[in-house]
Amino acid sequence: MKTVSILGVDVAACSRVRARDKVFEMLRETGLHMVFTPNSEIIMLARKNKAFQDILNQADLCTADGIGVVYGAKILGTPIPERVAGFDLLTDVLQHANDLSVYLFGSKPGVAEKAKAEMEHRFAGVHVVGTQNGYFDEAQEQLILADIREKQPDLLLVCLGAPKQEQWIWQHREEIGAKVVMGLGGSLDVLAGEVKRAPDIFIKLGLEWFYRLLKEPQRIGRMMALPHFLLVILKEKIFGGKSE
Ligand code: UDP
Repeated sequence: MKTVSILGVDVAACSRVRARDKVFEMLRETGLHMVFTPNSEIIMLARKNKAFQDILNQADLCTADGIGVVYGAKILGTPIPERVAGFDLLTDVLQHANDLSVYLFGSKPGVAEKAKAEMEHRFAGVHVVGTQNGYFDEAQEQLILADIREKQPDLLLVCLGAPKQEQWIWQHREEIGAKVVMGLGGSLDVLAGEVKRAPDIFIKLGLEWFYRLLKEPQRIGRMMALPHFLLVILKEKIFGGKSE
């Protein structure tokens, strides 16, 4: 899979369909495969945190979750065909699944159970073998790990927000025992109906970030990462990363 380096993070230059096919390839292979879906905020975080950047670069697949990453890649002259949002990649995989066992880990208590009901209702080829909320202490973490290992899901979704989910996956990669593990932020909240995604027209116009800002104005601080990201990309384009 061809990748392009976006401020030090290797992102797959692939379409949504190719990303989905790649996940199915991983499901057929042995051993654990990691899938991350960085947006510009995550890439900016990785720029400041080398250990986190290294974790992202160990992934078997890193897709461009945000439109900012797609624009950034274009500016750098290494285009990515389209945005592959984590939630879209997940639903594409679930839609084409046939007897896929899935484990849902993350979000507030009760959310993963609601997401399980929704998932099994919408996707005939999916059965959810376990759920755990994302608020735990060390003792509970051991129980969660033991439960995941015992259930041996094909696909484990870890939805703890970035960088916690990627760090958790990396730290426990030897103990997990799933075929594919995906770090997917607020996806369980969306599946459970706790958070609504933007209407399609916003997504098509590349304005999902704007819709989210309108709905959750408290995210303004986090979302300033997007213009900052594009500014850093422009600097890299003009000065070849030698400006700092
Ligand atoms: N979360 C969690 N445990 C934590 C911190 C966060 O399970 O210790 C969950 C939180 O409830 C939310 C998700 O992680 O469901 C992060 O959502 P956010 O919208 O921040 O993620 P994004 O999709 O923007 O990366």
